[in-house]
Order: sequence, then C-alpha cells, then structure tokens
Amino acid sequence: MNKIVDIFYSLQGEGTFVGTPSIFIRFYGCNLECSFCDDIKHTESFEHFSNEELLQKIQGFTCKQVVITGGEPSIYNLNAFIEFLQAYGYFVCVESNGFKFANIQSANWITYSPKDWDTIALKGCDEYKFIVSSASKVDKILALQTNKPIFIQPQNDFLTANATNVKYCIELVKAHSRLRLSVQLHKYLGVE
Ligand code: SF4
Repeated sequence: MNKIVDIFYSLQGEGTFVGTPSIFIRFYGCNLECSFCDDIKHTESFEHFSNEELLQKIQGFTCKQVVITGGEPSIYNLNAFIEFLQAYGYFVCVESNGFKFANIQSANWITYSPKDWDTIALKGCDEYKFIVSSASKVDKILALQTNKPIFIQPQNDFLTANATNVKYCIELVKAHSRLRLSVQLHKYLGVE
C-alpha cells in the first residue's frame, strides 16, 4: 500500500516541464528535515492507497502526466507503481533529493534536487534543481560536469518569494549562462 498525503491536479511550476498540466501525487515522509522545506504536508497524516485505487483517482483528471513528489518518494521502492501507471499511458516524473535512485529508476523523468552539494550524483536523473539563497556557496554547482539542465531556484521564505534570493539567483544565472532560473511558477500564479 502507498502512503499518500495528497493528490491534486495543477501545473508543473518548476524545471523543464514548467507550465505542463500535471497530476501530483505526494507521498508521505522524507529522510531529511530541511529548514526551508515548504512541503510540510509530507510530515502530517497520510492515507493508504493501493495502486489500483490511485489509478482510479488520477483517471478522474484529463491528463497523462503524473508527478510523484513528497517528501522524498525514493524512501519507497516505487518502480512497480511507476510501471503500473506507464502501462496505462502515463508519463511519470519523480522529484527526488537523490536518496535512492534505484527505487525510482523506472520513471520517465527524474528531477534531482540535492541537498548535500558535496556529494552530487552524476547519474540517475534527467535534470538538476538547486535551491539557492544569497548565502549559498555555489562553487559545487558551478563545477558540476553535466549536459543535463541545471535549474537554480531561489529559496523562499516558506511560501513567499525572498526578493534578495531571487535577485541573487537571477545574477547567478546571467553570469553562468548554462544555468537556468526556476521560480516555482505555481506560487506566483497562486495555484497549488
Ligand atoms: S528533502 Fe525536500 S521534502 Fe525533504 S525535508 Fe528537504 S525540502 Fe522537504
């Protein structure tokens, strides 16, 4: 059974698929406790859903793109669930801090948001997303040897944008043109 906090239909607000209508499935729990976490729902209550029950829920939306998020989805082995959804024609994206890529390797797309920048994995993901504040030491990001997209996302003050961090990230991206800005479009639009 899957431990699910929330299921909702919205727009992807971050990364390569920004603006894409997507069904979000938020799993319970995380291996980390980041001070800037804006996904506090993952620590609250959850409900158990079987794969079939989740399919039934998401079939209520007219969309074939699913985003599995958390918390940290890779604390569970989700490959069977991902393949189950793919068999019904879903394109399955997973957002992960990189805890265990093997548990989500069946996904069509993996967004990797490392929290320990001293040990950034080079394999297992399709794009990188770094949460950056004006106090961040970004040398490890700049040294990253990859052709995959690298998104720089300004660290918020919980749910609201931090203007200093936004400005810092804009200047960082302008100074290093292989980086791309990601601004959590959904928060600016006021959607979930
Ligand atoms: S890894 Fe992500 S979900 Fe987990 S505590 Fe940090 S910000 Fe929150």
